[in-house]
Amino acid sequence: MVTMQDRSATKNSQQRLTTSRRALVVGGSATVLGSFTLGTVSAGESVTEEVRTLRSGTRYETPAYIREAPTAGETVVVLGGVHGSERAGIDAAHTVREWEFEQGTLVVIPEANAPAVRDSTYSGPDGDLNQQFPSGQEPTTSIAEAIWEFITEMDPAAVIDMHSSMGIWGSSRGPSGFGQAIFPSAAGGSREIAGRVNRLLNDELIHASEEYDSAYEFTVGNTLAGEHPRLIHKVAADLGRAGYLTEVTRYGTDLPTRTNWSEAIAAELLRKHGIGVEKVPK
Ligand SMILES: [Zn+2]
Repeated sequence: MVTMQDRSATKNSQQRLTTSRRALVVGGSATVLGSFTLGTVSAGESVTEEVRTLRSGTRYETPAYIREAPTAGETVVVLGGVHGSERAGIDAAHTVREWEFEQGTLVVIPEANAPAVRDSTYSGPDGDLNQQFPSGQEPTTSIAEAIWEFITEMDPAAVIDMHSSMGIWGSSRGPSGFGQAIFPSAAGGSREIAGRVNRLLNDELIHASEEYDSAYEFTVGNTLAGEHPRLIHKVAADLGRAGYLTEVTRYGTDLPTRTNWSEAIAAELLRKHGIGVEKVPK
């Protein structure tokens, strides 16, 4: 259950729990993908949610959800809709917002580039949002600046940016593209974590599937370290934090499959960063 609290109530509970925010990190759980169970969070100990509005009153206006578990822990930011035509990441981000967890703070921006999401276009009125985060400099548009300021304020241990692509990274199957890959930031152990998550994803989603062969195995993409003006590059270079640009392929897949895969990637990455999410039935 989602309960709304005013900020002062949240702050009070935060103060009780801030003995050592960073020390309360737990390791990733061994939860099996695809078999989420109902949460064990009891009444009165639910996740609380604060809604912020980025670029309020402009065409870029978009909500950001700050969801806090009863027990303090790491913060992870999840984004969808940096590219407005990549629906799987947007739908998955809306679902991520519904998940229950008992420790940590999960921050979700489901429609980062709101006008592009509304128009189902890759870019927005000011171009490709994922080219507006140069490392070591200010973001180059007002929406990129608002997102970056917000992420910086959240002080996350990790940032997950969900995308989809025409093809499959490093594969001769289908058109060229970036799908079925997690591109890790050059910080926070991201590359090693992405590899471990991929092994889980491949066992549960690809090897167990009759529909998808080894061409669809998830791989680790190149490490993002700041050389391009993409969000996760800036997370690596300017924050020195874990980050993941996740890509599923549109080649030979339908939207529900891509969305399910995106959700599974997010769930396992969150667990590796101490947020033991559990899917909530709709
Ligand atoms: Zn994209």
